[in-house]
Amino acid sequence: MGNHTDILIVGGGIIGLTSAYALARAGLSVEVRERGELGQQASWAGAGIIPPGNPERTANAIDLLRASSVRLFAPLSAELREFTGIDNGFRVCGGIEFLHPEDADLPDRWAAEGLTLSEPTAEELRHREPGLTPPPRPAYRFPGMGQVRNPWHMRALVAACEQLGVRLRPHTPCVWSSELLHSYQHVILAPGAWAAEVVAPLGFTLPVRPVRGQIVLFRPTQPVLSHVVIDGRRYLVPRADGRVLVGSTEEPEAGFERANTEAGVRGLIDFAIGLVPALAHAPIEKCWAGLRPGSLDSLPYLGRLPGHERVILAAGHFRAGVQLSPGTAQIVRDLVLGSPPSIPIDAFRPDRQPNFSLRPSFRS
Ligand SMILES: Cc1cc2nc3c(=O)[nH]c(=O)nc-3n(C[C@H](O)[C@H](O)[C@H](O)COP(=O)(O)OP(=O)(O)OC[C@H]3O[C@@H](n4cnc5c(N)ncnc54)[C@H](O)[C@@H]3O)c2cc1C
Repeated sequence: MGNHTDILIVGGGIIGLTSAYALARAGLSVEVRERGELGQQASWAGAGIIPPGNPERTANAIDLLRASSVRLFAPLSAELREFTGIDNGFRVCGGIEFLHPEDADLPDRWAAEGLTLSEPTAEELRHREPGLTPPPRPAYRFPGMGQVRNPWHMRALVAACEQLGVRLRPHTPCVWSSELLHSYQHVILAPGAWAAEVVAPLGFTLPVRPVRGQIVLFRPTQPVLSHVVIDGRRYLVPRADGRVLVGSTEEPEAGFERANTEAGVRGLIDFAIGLVPALAHAPIEKCWAGLRPGSLDSLPYLGRLPGHERVILAAGHFRAGVQLSPGTAQIVRDLVLGSPPSIPIDAFRPDRQPNFSLRPSFRS
């Protein structure tokens, strides 16, 4: 394709870098412009929960995207490790979800998808997770739930992109100009929570807004948990080294402020100790927060920007950008190569009306 760069990617988060990796593997020359450090925003901050998925039997578009995407996580992790020597920490550790009344439809949907799951009795829960005090809600266990260590995964992606010759340009904010479209065959916009300001100069209004999520990391002296535990919008994620990550808040009102707050951290600590009382005695290693790219209907925006054939938008992944990243990158690659997307994207059109009836089976 000549000596020039074929593709410009705006945003060096998990969506931009996984897309860069997929495009470079397809033989295209790629440049990534990142305003700050590569992979240090939401993609660094996330908890890295990877739910299970069975793409053959999903009932709606977002579940199909999730299921297709999570299927790619194990092979992608192996490929990155082989390529770069960096282990991204992906492992299938199993998960337990405690069901809230507003999610009462989920068990039927999980069953319809043919996911492997069980409804453990109190006795079984005690046996599997002796340190857990279960809340008074129905419990579902997913042996296929996994997790990835976000900072390691981002490091592996950066290294893999470098090896493939992707031109990585941190500290390079991209300001839109028509010159960009003269210089590149395609421009991929993956600017996370900043998507609205990035597409505005193209005359497009995108309702993406930052939704702050805070995290607290405990470092118990002994292992206290082995499964990911999800209880509504909050969760515990046990790392392989015994640390336990507790997330998360959902704070759209914080705007672009990324600081932790006392109320946010206190709420997470209380939640964690309520589920695993031993955490009351565990040192807290650190707290952090990230800005999720939230859309009105919590669904991502994927596809060509209306009126701009060569501009592809991949943003607004909200709570699920890590699990959706391999599938999103596959879609971006398909669009650039001019093939029909291997995962349908009509439901994610950038110019859609919000579709509140399309709910994912897992929130992350
Ligand atoms: C606390 C928390 C927990 C989470 N847990 C999970 C989870 O368990 N599982 C899961 O799947 N997802 C989870 N998520 C969601 C997931 O992290 C996000 O959906 C995902 O990281 C979004 O990736 P991104 O690449 O779109 O955004 P980002 O990682 O934010 O990357 C966008 C990048 O674009 C750059 N940028 C913006 N504007 C410009 C510009 N003009 N020029 C150049 N660069 C620009 C930014 O600096 C940024 O680095 C969580 C998120 C948070 C905050």
